[in-house]
Amino acid sequence: LIFSLADIALIGLAVMGQNLIMNMNDHGFVVCAYNRTVSKVHDFLQNEAKGSKVVGAESLEDMVSKLKKPRRIILLVKAGQAVDDFIDKLVPLLQAGDIVIDGGNSEYRDTTRRCKSLKEKGLLFVGSGVSGGEEGARYGPSLMPGGHKEAWPHIKDIFQSIAAKVGTGEPCCDWVGDEGAGHFVKMVHNGIEYGDMQLICEAYHLMKDVLGMDHDEMAQAFDSWNKTELDSFLIEITANILKYKDADGTHLLPKIRDSAGQKGTGKWTAISALEYGTPVTLIGEAVFARCLSSLKEERVQASRSLSGPQGVKFNGNKAAFLEDIRKALYASKIISYAQGFMLLRQAAKEFGWTLNYGAIALMWRGGCIIRSVFLGKIKEAFDRDADLQNLLLDNFFSNAVQDCQESWRRTVCAGVQHGIPMPCFTTALSFYDGYRHDMLPANLLQAQRDYFGAHTYELLSNPGHYIHTNWTGHG
Ligand code: NAP
Repeated sequence: LIFSLADIALIGLAVMGQNLIMNMNDHGFVVCAYNRTVSKVHDFLQNEAKGSKVVGAESLEDMVSKLKKPRRIILLVKAGQAVDDFIDKLVPLLQAGDIVIDGGNSEYRDTTRRCKSLKEKGLLFVGSGVSGGEEGARYGPSLMPGGHKEAWPHIKDIFQSIAAKVGTGEPCCDWVGDEGAGHFVKMVHNGIEYGDMQLICEAYHLMKDVLGMDHDEMAQAFDSWNKTELDSFLIEITANILKYKDADGTHLLPKIRDSAGQKGTGKWTAISALEYGTPVTLIGEAVFARCLSSLKEERVQASRSLSGPQGVKFNGNKAAFLEDIRKALYASKIISYAQGFMLLRQAAKEFGWTLNYGAIALMWRGGCIIRSVFLGKIKEAFDRDADLQNLLLDNFFSNAVQDCQESWRRTVCAGVQHGIPMPCFTTALSFYDGYRHDMLPANLLQAQRDYFGAHTYELLSNPGHYIHTNWTGHG
């Protein structure tokens, strides 16, 4: 028997791993499959992988012996200890220059730690964000690899072949940066996903409770929005969700319990924002909105005793206000992405990473949950100026926000008057108003700090020079 060696191995035959293997197989790569519970290798070869070029392994030793050199091994196992356990078992079986890739949802700090430890052993490590869920893994995910750059030439072809494609076939995958940069970018992607979803929910709330629109009207609105700047996967599925009817012919959506779950990646983004002092307020509010939603029983109780504005009725032009909501959503979305990229810039500074922001926008452009036409515009902004300090300072985006501004303010005012919670619409507007003010009331804040704690302050006329005033003494 003559064996041709496999191009790459994948460990972890749950849904993501199986789909990624079949994707690589479709693109002509020979994959060796392995799983902790080895019976799943047999099941996989006899079912999903039947008739393909996929080969199986009975053990890690067997797997390693079936690979071309340098060996390339992807882990798609549960994030955390499982990744470290497999790395520990692999290290003695590998040779200098072999490549271990972690495609799970690992925390970026773990990836940085693993990079350091494998480097000491002469091995290359890549931590790659994989987005797009099961469907993405099978037919084209967004891939965000980072870590040891020496590994990139050896995995680029496979990664870019299996990734989602946009435009004229550009892959939604490029090298992100050193250490845990790939997983950091994936984390921010997930945070942005939280923000996008919450923004759509706020638009839905306003349509439903201010304009009194029914499900079909709302579905139609989202369908038509999907032909505008908001063209995106999440707007598309929202229209479909609004249309969906149960077997009994009634809409399913209003029957779903309004208590949101979360797996933590949005929270990690918000924690990083606090840690690095970056005002990523919209993602933070999106995480808190889920927390508030999950207090279902408490809210039901509160709804019996706490009242909102009384007798407020919308009597304006319905179509005009609907357009206001659309523009409020668009402007808020611009703020959210501006904040997300601010966090990426800050992390790059913190860790000494060189990040290619345009490439990151392109990686998110297709394949993943936040895929949208909008991300193409962000890519173009970074093409115009790779060092763009803030998305809001690009002409296209500053004009877009300017064009939406009046609508955005009207939407927020009306929502507040009607007592509709809009944590993300409002925080986005507050951020915008804060960012565009050359003078904020932090002068008072500094005076207060100096008053009670002698924390000192600077004068506008003499920055960098800190002074203290005895506020209770005589001037
Ligand atoms: P999963 O349920 O997260 O993990 C199952 C896999 O991990 C199985 O192969 C399992 O092996 C292995 N495993 C679990 N604990 C282990 C341990 N202690 N030691 C060794 N192996 C262990 O699978 P998944 O949903 O396919 O996700 C895989 C990774 O991709 C995760 O990090 C996930 O967060 C990430 N991800 C998932 C999605 C998604 O949409 N599902 C999207 C992007 C990224 P056994 O069969 O032996 O139990």
